[in-house]
Amino acid sequence: MATSADKKQEVGEGETLGLATLACHAGSDPRRWTSRDVIPPISMATTFLLDDPSDRSGFLYTRVGNPTRRSLEECLAAVEGARYAFCFSSGLAALLNTTYLLRAHDHIVCSADVYGGTYRFLKNCAARMALDTTNVDCTDVGKFQKAFLPNTKMVWLETVSNPTMKVLDLKALVSVSRQRAPHAIIIVDNTFLTPYLHKPLECGVDVVMHSLTKYINGHSDVLMGSLALNDPKLADELRKLQNYMGAVPSPFDCFLTNRGLRTLEVRMLRHGDSALQVARALESNPRVERVLHPGLPSHPQHKLAIELLTKGFCGVFSCYVNGTAQQTKDFMNNVKIFALAFSLGGHESLIELPREMTHSAMTEEERQAIGITDTLVRISIGLEDPRDLIRDLEQALLLAIPNPKD
Ligand SMILES: *Cc1c(COP(=O)(O)O)cnc(C)c1O
Repeated sequence: MATSADKKQEVGEGETLGLATLACHAGSDPRRWTSRDVIPPISMATTFLLDDPSDRSGFLYTRVGNPTRRSLEECLAAVEGARYAFCFSSGLAALLNTTYLLRAHDHIVCSADVYGGTYRFLKNCAARMALDTTNVDCTDVGKFQKAFLPNTKMVWLETVSNPTMKVLDLKALVSVSRQRAPHAIIIVDNTFLTPYLHKPLECGVDVVMHSLTKYINGHSDVLMGSLALNDPKLADELRKLQNYMGAVPSPFDCFLTNRGLRTLEVRMLRHGDSALQVARALESNPRVERVLHPGLPSHPQHKLAIELLTKGFCGVFSCYVNGTAQQTKDFMNNVKIFALAFSLGGHESLIELPREMTHSAMTEEERQAIGITDTLVRISIGLEDPRDLIRDLEQALLLAIPNPKD
């Protein structure tokens, strides 16, 4: 597989190319294809012609490698500032593949409020393979340090937690992890922030994971995941796992995801800007008790957030409705532009109730500990006109909560 340095040359030189340029061009030089398509052709073939039985110079079989998938993987590596990237059939398939880097009786340290599906997988499936996980509040570096065991071999983090929007000091956590378990693989799920807002590899982590299903594809029509990294040995193992385990995406989906990735930067700018506008409007609304958005001065970690996330924030944030559990549901049922649905990061705005939806796998006790109550609502701001979104939420709140308590 080509390195990101090759890709920079391919797209026209220099270490200084911006993410938007790489997203538009990396991995898809038209001279690669005899037909000179300016976008990567969709190679639907499952198998490829060999010159002789020992020929391994090109593509062999689509599970092992595919031209359309390669274009996407090179583009992903380039925007992440990584040497290698591998795509999988979903974000969770990417997570599954990383656990096959471990052995039975290895231990994983994982942040307490990770994506619900990650939590569920580690608790139910990884546990069956005798991989033990400790979930720990990683905003507290002291607690994080104590979570390590002699057999800790993996650390799984999300820079911004979901749905409570806590921000982690990644550099501090990496340094503790290297001290406590020098050989543990540190993986960051960067789905919420995307490489436009944050590049975890620059903070010293080993692997960046994405659910490409969210912002990177960005149009709610593909399920896919990826892993990006710099270490050649680890890349070798993951390349084998990608082939041996077989959880690979279809060439058509790779084409769609690459198309979505082209516009990542302009979309993230708009998502971030609109989300902040909507968050501010909700913060001043008496029918909202509290807004959790790291870009607002009211966020307990606002200072750390703007220090770490200099380019802004994504389109996801949460808020506590100033009402009862039923009023919270009424509010969600009254929205017109927002869709009541799982997921995030698409062009369309979504609203969901973590307690009953994305985080239902947690026990009530675990949810209480991280602040997931029956009035906590998570919002994903899409690419619509933010004024329409604000009006929609305001009318739905007004209908659900005629007389807010103060
Ligand atoms: C959606 C999501 C995942 C899982 O990805 P799938 O593509 O749905 O398998 C993992 N982490 C985060 C943060 C997510 O939002």
